[in-house]
Amino acid sequence: MNQQIREILQKQTIPYSIIENSFNNKSFLHAYLIEGGAGTPLFSFAFFLAKAILCTGETLVCDKCSQCLRMEHDRYPDFQIINAEKNTINREQLEDLQDVFSLKAVEPLGKKVYIIHHIDNIPSNTLNILLKFIEEPVDEIYAIFTTLSKEKVLPTISSRCQVLRLYEVSSKDLSEQLINEGWDEDESYIYANVTSNLEEAKSIKTDDGFLKIKDLVFDLIDKLAFSDDALYYLQTYGYLYIKDTQTCRLFLSVFSLVFKDIILIKNNLPFRIKALEKANMKLAERFINPEEIYSSIIITTSYLSINANISLLLDSLFIKIKGGLK
Ligand SMILES: [Zn+2]
Repeated sequence: MNQQIREILQKQTIPYSIIENSFNNKSFLHAYLIEGGAGTPLFSFAFFLAKAILCTGETLVCDKCSQCLRMEHDRYPDFQIINAEKNTINREQLEDLQDVFSLKAVEPLGKKVYIIHHIDNIPSNTLNILLKFIEEPVDEIYAIFTTLSKEKVLPTISSRCQVLRLYEVSSKDLSEQLINEGWDEDESYIYANVTSNLEEAKSIKTDDGFLKIKDLVFDLIDKLAFSDDALYYLQTYGYLYIKDTQTCRLFLSVFSLVFKDIILIKNNLPFRIKALEKANMKLAERFINPEEIYSSIIITTSYLSINANISLLLDSLFIKIKGGLK
C-alpha cells in the first residue's frame, strides 16, 4: 500500500483508530459495514481493513508479512472481493460467495475475509445466504461490506455490523472553508490536514491539548533552526503534552506538515505555513536531505500502531533529525 493512500486513510481519524485498536488488541468483529459517499476512499478503506484482519506483522498493515504482500498482488486464496459496483453480479461471483461460507480456509492462518463492495446493489434474494452467516457468525470468517448509504442496506444486515462512517476529505476544500469562517491561513491549513471534516476541525481548534501540541511543534522547529537544544526541549517540556499514542500522532502529523514546507522551500516552491517562514528557510538551508527526515517521521508514525514507547521513538527521531543537519 503506498504511503499516499495510507495518509488518505489516516485522515479518517475515527474509523482508522477503531481499526488500529482492534489490530493492537487482536479483536476484530465478524462484520463491518463501511459507509461513505462519493469522494470517500470506500474501497481502499475496505481493503485496508481486510489487510488489518489478516496481517500478522507487528505494525498495522505492515506491508511485509506474507498476507499483506500476497493480498496486494491478488494472490491470497482466503481473501475474496465481490464487486457489485456496476450493479450486476454474475453467476460466477455468486458461486464465489457460496464458497466463502462452505469452504474452509486454505492458508494455515485459518482466517477468511471477504469484501462485498456496494452490497446495496445485490438483490435481496441473492443475499439470503449472507443473512444466515450474519445471524450466526462462523469463527474466523470476516465480512466487510461497503455502501454509499447505510439506508440502502437491508436493516437485517446493517444492524448486525459495526458501521464505520467515512467522511469526504479534501484538505484543500476544508482549508478554504475554514478561511471563509475567518480562521487564519496557517491554522486553516494545519487543522484541515490533521482532521477530516469541519466539525472535527472546530472541536480540535478549541481543544487546549491540541493547541499546546501545535505550539510545541512550532517551538521545536524554531529550536532546530536556531539553537542546539531541540532534543533537550522535547525531553524536558515536550513530553508533558505528548502523553499517549493519540497526542503523539497529532504531534507527528503537524510535524510532518512542517517538513513538507521545508521540502517545498528547498525546491523553490510556494510553501504554506507563514508563521514558520524564517525557521523553515533556515532549515531548508541546513538540511541536506529533508525528504529523508520526512520519511523518518512517517515511519515513526507507523510504529505507533505497535504501542511502542513514545519517548524512545521521538528521542531517536530527533537524534536522526539532528544528524541530518549541516
Ligand atoms: Zn502485514
